[in-house]
Amino acid sequence: MSEFTEARERMVEWQIFRRGVRDPLVLAAMRRVPREAFVPPYWHEFAYDDTPLPIGGGQSISQPFIVAKMLEAAALHPGERVLDIGTGSGYAAAIAAEIVARVDSIERDAELVEAARERLQRLGYANVSVHLGDGTAGLAEHAPYDAIIAAASGPHVPTALRAQLACGGRLVMPVGSESGRQRLVKIVRSSEQEYEEHAFGDVRFVPLVGGDGWPERGRLAARWAG
Ligand code: SAH
Repeated sequence: MSEFTEARERMVEWQIFRRGVRDPLVLAAMRRVPREAFVPPYWHEFAYDDTPLPIGGGQSISQPFIVAKMLEAAALHPGERVLDIGTGSGYAAAIAAEIVARVDSIERDAELVEAARERLQRLGYANVSVHLGDGTAGLAEHAPYDAIIAAASGPHVPTALRAQLACGGRLVMPVGSESGRQRLVKIVRSSEQEYEEHAFGDVRFVPLVGGDGWPERGRLAARWAG
């Protein structure tokens, strides 16, 4: 048993269960995945803090509660197929992979892709594939998906992602302004033609940069401007 086991139990109890996440599959998955393995060594002692943490490249691993809340909203079931956009550390992909049959995860940063692949393989997540690319296009060759989640915030829900939802499929992602207000949006594809949509929860995510997201140009300019 690792020194982190107790911290992980406390995280699930105080940060997640007591804030209202009740999906037993999500709670069990959060109890199993070692978050310390997804953050750089110098952040290990903070791995179970109630906060996002830097993972390099200006990116971050999401706050545990947000991961739990998004995955609960996505209503995952055993046997399903999930598309995860913005692999980052691979943490959210690993949590999803504890519940469903198969996870495809897309990341645009090649270094993060390499690191996440290596980490997920070492931890034994054989049902996760990490792909290098622009998640705003989804992954047509493996669609449709029972659930799609994104950990980066776009100006709107990318068209390709709606199309790649199975009937009955759920999509959960942050939508809003690049650096201001963002809300989590949940879309359910209720039939071939119909989508139900509602927003919940104010959040703060890194930008979804891609063909049907925010332009790369604007992002760099904003960084240079300080
Ligand atoms: N789910 C991650 C959180 C990563 S932060 C975790 O659990 O650690 C969001 C990630 O989205 C960043 O790594 C960023 O590089 C990536 N990203 C941003 N836009 C993207 C796009 N269009 N396609 C794929 N990844 C993208």
